[in-house]
Amino acid sequence: MPRPILATIHPAAFRHNLERVRRAAPDARVWAVVKANAYGHGIERVFDGMRSADGFALLDLAEAQRVRDLGWRGPILLLEGVFEQRDLELCSRLDLWHTVHCNEQIDMLATHKTNVPQRVFLKMNVGMNRLGFMPERYRAAWTRLNALPQVDEISLMCHFSDADGPRGVAQQMAVFAAASRDLPGERSLSNSAAILRHTVDPAQAALHPEALVVSDWVRPGIVLYGSAPDYPEHSAADWALQPTMTLAAKIIATQALDTRASVGYGSSFVADKPMRIGVVACGYADGYPRICPTGTPVLVDGVPTRTVGRVSMDMITVDLTPVPQAGVGSTATLWGRAANGTVLPIDDVAVCAQTVGYELMCGLALRVPVEVAA
Ligand SMILES: *Cc1c(COP(=O)(O)O)cnc(C)c1O
Repeated sequence: MPRPILATIHPAAFRHNLERVRRAAPDARVWAVVKANAYGHGIERVFDGMRSADGFALLDLAEAQRVRDLGWRGPILLLEGVFEQRDLELCSRLDLWHTVHCNEQIDMLATHKTNVPQRVFLKMNVGMNRLGFMPERYRAAWTRLNALPQVDEISLMCHFSDADGPRGVAQQMAVFAAASRDLPGERSLSNSAAILRHTVDPAQAALHPEALVVSDWVRPGIVLYGSAPDYPEHSAADWALQPTMTLAAKIIATQALDTRASVGYGSSFVADKPMRIGVVACGYADGYPRICPTGTPVLVDGVPTRTVGRVSMDMITVDLTPVPQAGVGSTATLWGRAANGTVLPIDDVAVCAQTVGYELMCGLALRVPVEVAA
């Protein structure tokens, strides 16, 4: 018997979430962002649910190879561009489009030997201060690229630092608009939060001059995986997103606690009344964060309850008070959808771990078996 823990990937949820993006940005083409092994889901497992995307965006050249191996002939974009000269040969061989964010990458292109010019996305640094050319250097970078025989079409791109928060995108959009004015080429600006929060109805465009900077290509990641980019201001349900990953494990033991009995390492939880607890076959070695305190939400047989005591390497203990019929063999849903349809949003667990849904998905451990739902 394998250990009774399973992650389930839901292809129908990808189709639903992708539709959701298309409704929010009806005129844009969609890069499905599948970096970090499709946010921990597995590129091969999400591919079918995402094949109606217009392209795939990622950073790792080995992942680009995997997308081509799946038979994808459409666009693939390297979000950080190439890391060394010989990566350009792979770009030529696999027909990859790549981001250019620094002069060193232009130097590499200038000495790249190819008969087939490459499509590049020139990145502007509009305030995040990680990658990209400063606005006042942007035009010079464009001019230099445009003169290279190795370069075909140049698209223009930026990445917002505050699309999910109160600062918003207007100021960074204005920087982008001013520094790219009159430059030809398609634009790509928006991540998930910008798509959901800052897409302006074309009828209202006159009231929102910044919206004149349209995104020809949007770059959703986290929305496709059914987590809210701006939790807790909005939940996944508020945005009508569906979870794409369920993590569930069985109860392998139960205990009856007397008043003042404690649970787990450090005896951090002490019962204030007699209660039953269940021991779940999932721990931090599976990717369930150890920092989750007593009270972190969990479903048992689809009924909401809470964790009690410390998370250990292979086990979690849960309060069975709301589910008296549960016992050994019952299913605990750590996040995602239970068999009765009840959803525990990954964001509700992430917030208890002082992090975001992104990190929990990406942190699913290799030892957890994964199944793709029908
Ligand atoms: C990861 C990434 C995205 C997707 O971000 P989400 O918040 O997951 O939508 C978009 N653009 C770039 C450049 C990225 O690196």
